[in-house]
Amino acid sequence: MAGDAKYQGAFPQLVTKIIASYVSHHNVAPEQIPDLISSVHRTIDSLGKPAEPQGILTPAVPVRRSVTRDAVVCLECGWKGKMLRRHLSTRHGLTAEQYLKRWNLASDHPLTAPAYSAQRSALAKELGLGRGGRQSAPAPVAAAPRRRGRPRSAARIAREGA
Ligand SMILES: [Zn+2]
Repeated sequence: MAGDAKYQGAFPQLVTKIIASYVSHHNVAPEQIPDLISSVHRTIDSLGKPAEPQGILTPAVPVRRSVTRDAVVCLECGWKGKMLRRHLSTRHGLTAEQYLKRWNLASDHPLTAPAYSAQRSALAKELGLGRGGRQSAPAPVAAAPRRRGRPRSAARIAREGA
């Protein structure tokens, strides 16, 4: 070896030893040697490095930061909003259950911003009204002489948020 080829990889002597040993025991065509060298080099170089975790999902944000008072964050893509459920199904084709399982989350992991769901249910209870006139016709009450329970629209509002 003239030593004119500078070997850039790790453990050049080890690589050389392995190659020399291999070549002396195997019938290797000269044109195969470069491949052999790079193959040995790659193998040695990858030793001691942490293996790429495979099949382990990396959340867009740490799980413990995925829920704030005013927003919930999608672990899939980092989307942030008041309600995750709809986003999950439209963006990722996931049900809430699939999402929780996929990320190993507790079944009571909030998918709606806590402040928002509290606000919505309080609103629904107090007013029993739809948002911004989306429900234009109020339920007729003439047939019901006595008030009981929550108005139907309130229940609907509460469900939408869940
Ligand atoms: Zn997402």
